[in-house]
Amino acid sequence: MVEITFLKAGYCTHPEAMVLPGESWKSIIFPALFALIRHPMGWILFDTGYSERFYQETQYLPNKLYALLTPVYLKPQETAISQLKQLGIEPEEIQYIIISHFHADHIGGLKDFPKAEFICFQSGYKAIKNTQGLRALKAGFLAGLMPDNFEERVIFAENYKAIKLPENLTPFEQGFDLFGDGCLIAIELPGHAVGQMGLYLTDNNGKQYFLIADACWLSRAYQELIYPQRIADLLFADKTAYRETLKKINQLYRNNPHLNIVPSHSSID
Ligand SMILES: [Zn+2]
Repeated sequence: MVEITFLKAGYCTHPEAMVLPGESWKSIIFPALFALIRHPMGWILFDTGYSERFYQETQYLPNKLYALLTPVYLKPQETAISQLKQLGIEPEEIQYIIISHFHADHIGGLKDFPKAEFICFQSGYKAIKNTQGLRALKAGFLAGLMPDNFEERVIFAENYKAIKLPENLTPFEQGFDLFGDGCLIAIELPGHAVGQMGLYLTDNNGKQYFLIADACWLSRAYQELIYPQRIADLLFADKTAYRETLKKINQLYRNNPHLNIVPSHSSID
């Protein structure tokens, strides 16, 4: 039994032309998606979206720049913890949180799930661990969003069995089978952040999803292979890797049009 539900915890606004050159410089909405996954191992989240801690953590400089660059809108009932409660799921019931990368709109709710173990790439964690001040800000990382006992609760995806991916995921070749059943496979998507993790998931109806986090912001970018404005390169860990990853996703989309490719900030409605 594997089921996936997409939810969103808040949104930010940013000029459209930054991500789709040629479009207007008017600000558009970027929802912060997260996914609720029902699996025989228990309830699993893929990322958490924003939480109100974002506001506390960005009150003062330099972190305040983060909130100015991407103004955040979040109502209390829209946080992951609150939405899960509305679905009848208590925070303690979340067994695992798969972290695509450590930007604030993906890890905002980690502290709300006391029993969850975290799954991420070790390379991604190492890149932000112990970063402070402007360096942390440049990495989009707000240390105050991390649970104090994170290191006791984290499992690195590199420790799972590396597998050769099926043909239908070409040009991606290698992944990590997270629960040994082939249903949830972590795939590295470098560029936007170091060690960014994508998740390939097959649900119980055989429907396939590839959650690509921030490998691009909008679906049009991978469908039409549109690279963002050069100035957006400043936000990326590795701009060359970003372009290579996006190109691979575009090839995958053309090879396998039935695959549901889901960026974290595209609209789900
Ligand atoms: Zn990001």
